[in-house]
Amino acid sequence: MALLNIINYKTDPVLRKPSKPVEKIDKKILTLLNDMAETMYHANGAGLAAPQVGVLKQLVVIDAGSGLIKLINPVITAFSGEQVDFEGCLSVPEIYGKVKRPQSVTVKALNEKGETVEFKGTDLLARAFCHEIDHLHGVLFLDKVIPDTLIRIKPEKPKNM
Ligand code: ZN
Repeated sequence: MALLNIINYKTDPVLRKPSKPVEKIDKKILTLLNDMAETMYHANGAGLAAPQVGVLKQLVVIDAGSGLIKLINPVITAFSGEQVDFEGCLSVPEIYGKVKRPQSVTVKALNEKGETVEFKGTDLLARAFCHEIDHLHGVLFLDKVIPDTLIRIKPEKPKNM
């Protein structure tokens, strides 16, 4: 396992590029997922997407408090309701803002064995799914933030991802 360098949105345009689907789940991909998880926990984040460590592949790790989830080629297949709350990004340090997200989302992806898996997430987990999958398409929470809600002070519950 190794800690990876988290890219800052100001210094590297890689965060604005679309990620490619993973075609073969090999040892390199599995190691990368493990390293991403270690990096996310070390940074006290709720999620991390591969572009945030400079890799344009559709890989995401999430732990919104209910355990580690590793996703390969994830897509949102259904969503419902809405929630508005502060959100932060490990690649956008010390800036937070309110973002409207679905209350609940269903995500389809591959697991580490290449099997199709489906997750349903609500609240913070739904937010994390949306935030990380946005990263795979070059989208940052700054693009969706509700104007005038940007702050530089960490909200009570950090939700960096
Ligand atoms: Zn982020």
